[in-house]
Amino acid sequence: MTLPDMHRAEAIPEAARSEIERLLQTGDLFRYTAASDAPVSLLEAEFAQMMGSRYALAVSSCSAALFLSLLALDLPKDARVLIPGFTFAAVPSSVLHANCQPVLCEVGDNYRIDMDDFAAKLTDVNAVIISHMRGHTSDMDAIMALCDAADIPVIEDAAHSLGTLWHDRKIGTIGKIGCFSFQSYKMVNAGEGGILITDDADLVARAIIMSGAYEHNWKKHPGVAEACARWQNKLPLYNLRLNNLSAALVRPQLAELPRRVADGLRNHDYVAARLNASAYINVPAPLGPETRAPDSIQFNTVGLDDDAIRAFAAASAAAGVKVQVFGQSADNARAFWNWQFIKDLPELPQTRKMLMSACDVRLPVHLKIDDLDAVVDVLLGAIAAVTNAEAA
Ligand SMILES: *Cc1c(COP(=O)(O)O)cnc(C)c1O
Repeated sequence: MTLPDMHRAEAIPEAARSEIERLLQTGDLFRYTAASDAPVSLLEAEFAQMMGSRYALAVSSCSAALFLSLLALDLPKDARVLIPGFTFAAVPSSVLHANCQPVLCEVGDNYRIDMDDFAAKLTDVNAVIISHMRGHTSDMDAIMALCDAADIPVIEDAAHSLGTLWHDRKIGTIGKIGCFSFQSYKMVNAGEGGILITDDADLVARAIIMSGAYEHNWKKHPGVAEACARWQNKLPLYNLRLNNLSAALVRPQLAELPRRVADGLRNHDYVAARLNASAYINVPAPLGPETRAPDSIQFNTVGLDDDAIRAFAAASAAAGVKVQVFGQSADNARAFWNWQFIKDLPELPQTRKMLMSACDVRLPVHLKIDDLDAVVDVLLGAIAAVTNAEAA
């Protein structure tokens, strides 16, 4: 039984080659050089169409998209932005970068936002970022009802949720702005890159200009001339553009997305069913309206203390499967207590408890059933070794 390479990415589709060769031949890498149809512009048009959004703006990362989204909302100075206590450190960082204050709310042991804490903290914030962490969708019905009633804008951090549905709606299209990542560990891989989508012309016009559409480069973005003209020379330029090579890598992958999403979900659910048969493991169920698009699996250990959890992760690693326990590894970027760049960092007891037992295993969508069985056998073997040792 051989273990798959859990970090190998899927090959970039062959179709990218001729376009990349053309770009290499012409040196036409900057998105605003060509008079029209630059790869970045084509990607924006295709992505917006795929998502059913009016506008898309491709940028250098999802973090850049979140930062520009906050700026484009034109929030008051020192605005407070509610974010989940379980997210990637780049999210509170983008809030600070936009001169706003992150406000952290509790996350439950199903990795989703705790709605009681969310409602309580919503009374004192100016904007909300919902991180669908590891593609787990929080209760968007409840979140949008509360935020709409309070007239608070919602940014969806859908970095890791491309292809996820909530009811029949695409995640990233429910809030005012949706932000996605093309970093290599996400569903579409350009090494680095990001994109934001919205239906709001004024908002995207501001983001376009600040992303680095200096002078009249915004004229290469369709449907926003009036709004961009209004903001001409009034906004700083942060130069967070995507380059044509990255767009050429992404574009042919969009056609692969439905297959990747279907395979990812099949793989996840297969592994979840086998793991859930263990009394020591619980894979939380998705929320009712959610159709997931996972490329990794998260599960909680049941009845294991910290020493046993660490022993489980060590035994899995020794047998060839890396298990990240978010709260048990030093300096983990997803453990809120490591975000010490935040002033007056709060304690979140419920989120901390979840992070101390939540395990994370990559499941690249290209894995086959044999690969999955090999991975699960290692995980269950490691659980058995640890729990037998405890019982002895
Ligand atoms: C990957 C990720 C980010 C950051 O994306 P980058 O493109 O690397 O900036 C932000 N939020 C979540 C939930 C992520 O998974």
